[in-house]
Amino acid sequence: MVKVVKFGGSSLANANQFKKVAEIVRSDSARRYVVPSAPGKRFGADIKVTDMLYACYDAIGEGANAEEEFRPIVERFDGIISALNLELDLETEYGTIVRNFKARAGRDYAASRGEYLCGIVLAKFLGFHFIDAARGVKFYPNGEFDADLTEASLQVLLDKHGKAVIPGFYGAKPNGEIKTFSRGGSDVTGSLVAKAVRAALYENWTDVPGVLLADPRIVDNPKVIKTLTYRELRELSYMGATVLHESAIFPVRTAKIPINIRNTNTPTLPGTMIVPQTDDNPTLLTGIAGKKGFAVINLEKDEMNNEIGFLRRILTLFEAEGINFEHIPSGIDTLSVIISGDDYKSRPGLIDRITKVARPDRLSVEHDLALVAIVGRGMRERRGTATRVFASLAHAGVNIKMIDQGSSELNIIVGIKNDDFEKAIRAVYDTFALSE
Ligand code: ASP
Repeated sequence: MVKVVKFGGSSLANANQFKKVAEIVRSDSARRYVVPSAPGKRFGADIKVTDMLYACYDAIGEGANAEEEFRPIVERFDGIISALNLELDLETEYGTIVRNFKARAGRDYAASRGEYLCGIVLAKFLGFHFIDAARGVKFYPNGEFDADLTEASLQVLLDKHGKAVIPGFYGAKPNGEIKTFSRGGSDVTGSLVAKAVRAALYENWTDVPGVLLADPRIVDNPKVIKTLTYRELRELSYMGATVLHESAIFPVRTAKIPINIRNTNTPTLPGTMIVPQTDDNPTLLTGIAGKKGFAVINLEKDEMNNEIGFLRRILTLFEAEGINFEHIPSGIDTLSVIISGDDYKSRPGLIDRITKVARPDRLSVEHDLALVAIVGRGMRERRGTATRVFASLAHAGVNIKMIDQGSSELNIIVGIKNDDFEKAIRAVYDTFALSE
């Protein structure tokens, strides 16, 4: 059995965290492929190595002394190396990086060096082989990710080594130029490695106890979700729950590899399992998430229901404008389109253009709508879920402006006023999580 283990930045922030990581890896011989992030924050006001690298690269571009700018990064890594008593000298690596910074190798190259150096240190500490991700994670010349070539390259590379560390976050284009994923992208690398080696499990070690039922900034000590499906995770992350990088789900999902979110600081706890599907008897509610700041464009037109092509004209306009719509609740002669408030604000004249293509009798725009998603695979089988959601919101004095239940019956989405957002989440959490 093979497990791929990814460790986030806070799990590798200092030598002590490296020791915890090594203990976790060594305690299970199936943990054969390790994907590290760059060292993260050691304390609240600390700076992540990735951010130090971006800043250093930019400062050098503006004429600052390269060696001097790079020194704090050297100190961070050398500090870890000496506290771990490693026989490792990264002088040559540092020299190459500074030279490439001066030669303007690119911001992606700069940012990627955190994972690269961290990978070398961790490989040495674990006694694992180090594989540069530039050799296995591949991008097209235009910068798009090349999934097929990556899978093939990773398979060849990883098959050669029984135990290896491969840094997260970056890869390379065919000409060798380094390219990174978006921020938090080591999660994606972990998922790609898991798929390439056909792992039985992808463990994602972080500094939270798992996927939480609700945002801990809104609900005190929310419960940890024990098991959820990829689809539920997708619903929750789309609506704002930040657990994994969005693109990290897809490689393991197609390969049906479960993801286990674990906490490096409490390794005995089971964390959260994210699975393709499950036959367990689910609780009614899996999780709650939401976002603020949507705009609603309400259109009214007599006999809209008989006008074939009305919706198409509006959606064609949105497509031309490059606007993604969130929901389109409709009535017989009414239609509302919910879009992000930022998209609305950044398209002056949008209403005039809608009026021109749709010729509505009435058009109004509401701002400051929040959407709350109540997600749970257990809803489909049980009666009365919607009633309980709406009753809890009514008791909390929250007025519901829109309701949408996805056809999969996996979620209920309610639109409410921005100002009611926190109150609504607490009310739903109290009703479902505390009673189950
Ligand atoms: N180090 C990168 C970041 O800070 C990538 C990662 O941690 O996954 O975004």
